[in-house]
Amino acid sequence: MSKTYVVAGAGFRGFCDAMELLKVPGNKVHIVEPAPFFGGIAYSREVKGFAVDKGVHVFDSIPVDLADIVNEIMDGHTKTIEFVSASAFNGVVTDGFSLPDLASLDEGTKAKIKDELLALAKLDHSSDNPANLGELFRQRFGETAGGVFGRIFEKVYSIHPDRVEASGLSVTSLHRLKFLGDPEMVELKKDPWLDTVLAARRKAVGKVDDFVSIYPDTGEAMKGWCDRAAKWLEAKGAVISYGEKITAIKDTASGVSVTTDKQVIEADKVIWANDNVAALAGALGFEADLKGLQHGTPMVFATLITQAKQIKDFTYLQNFEPDAFTYRTAAAGLFSNQIKEDGTSFITCECPAAIGSDTWERSDEIAPEIWAECQALGIVQEDAELLDHEVIRIPSTFKPALVGFTDKIAEIYAEIPKHSERVHLHNVEPFFRRDIYLDSLGLNEKVA
Ligand SMILES: Cc1cc2nc3c(=O)[nH]c(=O)nc-3n(C[C@H](O)[C@H](O)[C@H](O)COP(=O)(O)OP(=O)(O)OC[C@H]3O[C@@H](n4cnc5c(N)ncnc54)[C@H](O)[C@@H]3O)c2cc1C
Repeated sequence: MSKTYVVAGAGFRGFCDAMELLKVPGNKVHIVEPAPFFGGIAYSREVKGFAVDKGVHVFDSIPVDLADIVNEIMDGHTKTIEFVSASAFNGVVTDGFSLPDLASLDEGTKAKIKDELLALAKLDHSSDNPANLGELFRQRFGETAGGVFGRIFEKVYSIHPDRVEASGLSVTSLHRLKFLGDPEMVELKKDPWLDTVLAARRKAVGKVDDFVSIYPDTGEAMKGWCDRAAKWLEAKGAVISYGEKITAIKDTASGVSVTTDKQVIEADKVIWANDNVAALAGALGFEADLKGLQHGTPMVFATLITQAKQIKDFTYLQNFEPDAFTYRTAAAGLFSNQIKEDGTSFITCECPAAIGSDTWERSDEIAPEIWAECQALGIVQEDAELLDHEVIRIPSTFKPALVGFTDKIAEIYAEIPKHSERVHLHNVEPFFRRDIYLDSLGLNEKVA
């Protein structure tokens, strides 16, 4: 039977939910979004005449059927991204790898890591239930490598891993360990448990999945997809209200009444497609205090403009060096097809910076230092000139859950039905677009 839904949030989650609900003939979908645009965090900004994503936003490793949808929305204007990744640690750049490569540590430390891993491989891990992310690193990689990963995490996310729930692993690039050359890693991976925690470069292990990576190639960056995705949903019948806040949600005799600051929408169900659980509780008339349980990772974000021909042909490089400015640097101008007539393009750098830290406070001045680091890493040529730049401060990017978050969310989930039986709140864990899409696929059955 067809129904009317309010989808709260026009990010990728809201997109997937709306698309799924509209597969049932007769269903009506009304998306309510507080921002004036579609796409949430994936929407690009205009910087010095370029469209720049807020961080690296690629449809990376997505199922082929989702890639087909993205492609249809873009009228075929997408390009396949052949990931050219690299990572840096201890002054060494490892091409073709996007996790930390600890192979440059001294032989004694690597022997210790190996002994610890072989000892761990003998244990039964079926009841492992780490209390926090720091413990997870140690249980998974051993005391020595786990400690190194903990320090990398603290540098990138500006918070100690012992304060973060183990689920925080999903927002990191720290889920597998490489500390030797590829052949030795492949050899160690023959143990079934070590296979789940160790990594080798992709070319050494061969094809690992059937996912594809694509990016819009219209030169508008992800904004091009966001704008078209909104129109695509509207053509399927979705109504999208921008710049509206939901202030109240109340069950009625026949459905649910959703009040925004501009209108009242009558529906059968509300799908909460965003992570602002406190706002949902507020709209339902109870308080949910998640303060202190959600960490928004602050970053200084630099857009650096130079001649395209002086930028290395790469997708992104992740720098795990504890003293470095940069974390993830992307050739975003190149893979988004943005080269101006004068030959200029740009790279973007996400630079970890705790609020109030030296990097945060000096963000206006640090572009030359970031540039020098990019030159040293070979991301741009040594003689490349920094022609123009913009550096902004983003107080909250990745949001790993702090210890206690899951318990609090469970309390909130239990409280919601007491206030409304017509609100569907998603599992909060899916993070990457692939996982969000796959999670949304079951939505019609869940809300039936
Ligand atoms: C820096 C960064 C880079 C990333 N890069 C990638 C990548 O390359 N590939 C990938 O797969 N994933 C990436 N991710 C993960 C990314 O978060 C997801 O892929 C996805 O875009 C998130 O979509 P979302 O709808 O859950 O959240 P959002 O994009 O945050 O959208 C949530 C929406 O809900 C709205 N909203 C907020 N409060 C309310 C309310 N009370 N009522 C109604 N609406 C509300 C917001 O305004 C927003 O539009 C990245 C994440 C970050 C932080």
